[in-house]
Amino acid sequence: MKHKCPICKTVTDSEVHKDFPFCSERCRGQDLGNWASEKYVVSEPIFGEEEPAEGERKTILLDLDKSDDHES
Ligand SMILES: [Zn+2]
Repeated sequence: MKHKCPICKTVTDSEVHKDFPFCSERCRGQDLGNWASEKYVVSEPIFGEEEPAEGERKTILLDLDKSDDHES
């Protein structure tokens, strides 16, 4: 059974390539990498939850400073 590597479009053969339909372990890894990076983007806010929250707090403080300036 022949197929094309979804990553580099090299023709692959299920009887030759153990990583079929990928031409190599590297291309298979890249495909998994695509999925992993997608998952990473989704889980990133959870990992960096503390830092953005701190940044938000700073922005709020700056906004308050600005409105104080405006009043005086
Ligand atoms: Zn490939």
